[in-house]
Amino acid sequence: PVVTRFAPSPTGMLHIGGVRTALFCWLYARRHHGTFILRVEDTDLTRSTDDNIRIIEEGMDWVGLDWDEGPVPGDPNAYRGPHGPYRQMLRMDLYRAKIAQLLEAGLAYRCECSREDLDARRKQADAEGRPFMYDGRCRDKHLDGSVPCAIRLRMPDSGEIVLEDLVKGRIAVPASSLDDWIIARQDGTPTYNFCVVVDDVDMGVTHVVRGDDHVANTPKQIALYRALGYELPAFAHVPMILGKDKQKLSKRHGAASITEFRDDGFLPVAVRLCLAKLGWTPKVDGKAAESVEEELLTDQQLMENFDLGEIQKAAAVFDIDKLKWINQKFIQRLDWTEIAPHLRWQWARLGLEAAWDAKPDEWKALAIGCNKNRATLVEMAETTRFLLKAPASFDEAAVAKYLVDAVKPALREVTALEDYGHDALKAGVDAILARHGLKLKDLAQALRVAFTGGVVSPPIFDTMALLGREDVCARLEKWI
Ligand code: GLU
Repeated sequence: PVVTRFAPSPTGMLHIGGVRTALFCWLYARRHHGTFILRVEDTDLTRSTDDNIRIIEEGMDWVGLDWDEGPVPGDPNAYRGPHGPYRQMLRMDLYRAKIAQLLEAGLAYRCECSREDLDARRKQADAEGRPFMYDGRCRDKHLDGSVPCAIRLRMPDSGEIVLEDLVKGRIAVPASSLDDWIIARQDGTPTYNFCVVVDDVDMGVTHVVRGDDHVANTPKQIALYRALGYELPAFAHVPMILGKDKQKLSKRHGAASITEFRDDGFLPVAVRLCLAKLGWTPKVDGKAAESVEEELLTDQQLMENFDLGEIQKAAAVFDIDKLKWINQKFIQRLDWTEIAPHLRWQWARLGLEAAWDAKPDEWKALAIGCNKNRATLVEMAETTRFLLKAPASFDEAAVAKYLVDAVKPALREVTALEDYGHDALKAGVDAILARHGLKLKDLAQALRVAFTGGVVSPPIFDTMALLGREDVCARLEKWI
């Protein structure tokens, strides 16, 4: 059975590069009816606050990557799954036991070299222009630990360490180029590379998928697998995501953290597809999609077609316009009930969620249905906000241009219309236009300004139906 894991370190934001890694893990586990684990690597105590862990859980939850095993949001000590806890700080006993086992077997040893010593030797190496490597001088001292010691892994002296990476291919490193690395510091705390391996084994991870910034660590980790007598999992090191300027992705490329995508009005389903496409070419029924339209895969299609072995080697380039395009396609395609919860988030930011909640379903369906030409939910909320709250100000140029004396008698007659069914409204308005020799455009723009304060709204009859007669009359009253 396939077991994958996403193992973020809580840093205060969930970067979309991380989310894409998590997505690949999730898709692969789902495709193979396996298990997807969320493990929090919280050994950096300065950054690993409960708040920062919550940011990860919320981001994962929003983007729809549900984990089978991992922490349970809301309670730092709660978790689900048979291999918990899923926060490294709560797993120290396991690490200590494994370190003792390695010491016992002579596969790791105590090292008394102080930081000052090591620093001096590193400086010396720098000065001589050679790379610094620990020379193994404590290997055979058999120190008993009565003075504080770091613990180092005894690395093989010869041969090659080979990584068969699903993305990068074969990477072979001479064992002699790697020194005996520290698995536990002098103060007893285990190091990052050590914990990762112990956890991946303990949790039964079959496919280690992570950013390729970690690829240099993997040969060291492989040596540890061997020392502990464990089989290697499959590895897939995923290339970075860059901005269009080929720089590491950051806020100035549109967004860098998953919460920005949410705040900027993207649908999780669109974000998932966009991220999957960063480094993987969409396929349908095993064949490459032939057009961008065909690339609009559902989650189901993504799961059925995604493969770790197909991830591209080159760094992927994120383009916010492509995400907008995908988002707009999903806005058009999805039923209003699938859009509503995400749109509600926008209403909540505007303080209008109570007004929205008070509306009946048919109203919500029409409000979303007649406003689907928007790229984001922020735009959607902006262009329908006037439905929930009368405008506080009016665009003066628009008022001067459209709310002119020539249309005012017609506006007055609009207030007399009583039947707000779409066809009846249209017939009523047509008759008014004919009587006053006006074009629909002139009257519609005047109505828009009166209703919204500006010149943008959904189609005018839908807008009137959504506002309702009472509100239409109230908003026109001021101008006639
Ligand atoms: N905690 C590491 C990170 O956030 C992940 C390491 C791994 O996936 O093995 O970069």
